Amino acid sequence: MIAIDGPTASGKGTVASRVAGQLGWHLLDSGALYRLTALACLEQGIAADDVGRAAAAAQALDVRFGDGTVAMSGRDVSADIRREDVGSLASQVATLAPVRAALLERQRAFRAAPGLVADGRDMGTVVFPDADLKIFLVASAEARAQRRYKQLIEKGFSANLLTLLRDLEARDARDTQRALAPLAAAHDALVLDSSHLTIDETVAQVMAWWHE
Ligand code: C5P
Repeated sequence: MIAIDGPTASGKGTVASRVAGQLGWHLLDSGALYRLTALACLEQGIAADDVGRAAAAAQALDVRFGDGTVAMSGRDVSADIRREDVGSLASQVATLAPVRAALLERQRAFRAAPGLVADGRDMGTVVFPDADLKIFLVASAEARAQRRYKQLIEKGFSANLLTLLRDLEARDARDTQRALAPLAAAHDALVLDSSHLTIDETVAQVMAWWHE
């Protein structure tokens, strides 16, 4: 069991997916579950502060993860859950204790042979505290904003570096300052700063620690 946590746009999703691929293990993108809950809330007209209904929506999620795709109630929502409004609502519903509780066992159920690589904010601290290897992947806000900028431009979207940087810092603040499961490295996590590393170098470091 390998847990990879870190702030938004730190590259943990890509790194987790590559490490799982190299090891032939299962992958859990826990952020996708919060995004799916947010999408369900949007579609059912559930307000971000309607704790009871948001938790019920999390509990009732009918999710199927495919090879890089996510289906909700049989519909491919891979693109929808990446929308900015969905990400923003995800970080709001993620502050609700009953929502986090509703998703806890669902996340733990992903653990299966031969192994699981899970990425998120609280994989090493709350969901899988007994993980064999815990990585806390960080990168400076500037490096993360640059990467996101490059991705958006490559996809043909317009983007503003300063706006992206401010948005990242705001999301960092929300994730680290919330009362519940705030973003923090587990006491036994290895901190990996990828500000000056490529994805390949970052993956290689995780694999080296795993084989140590
Ligand atoms: O990682 P991603 O951006 O997809 O996550 C969306 C939101 O879900 C995050 O902003 C964070 O607030 C929340 N989240 C969380 N715990 C996790 C994964 C994601 O609170 N394990």
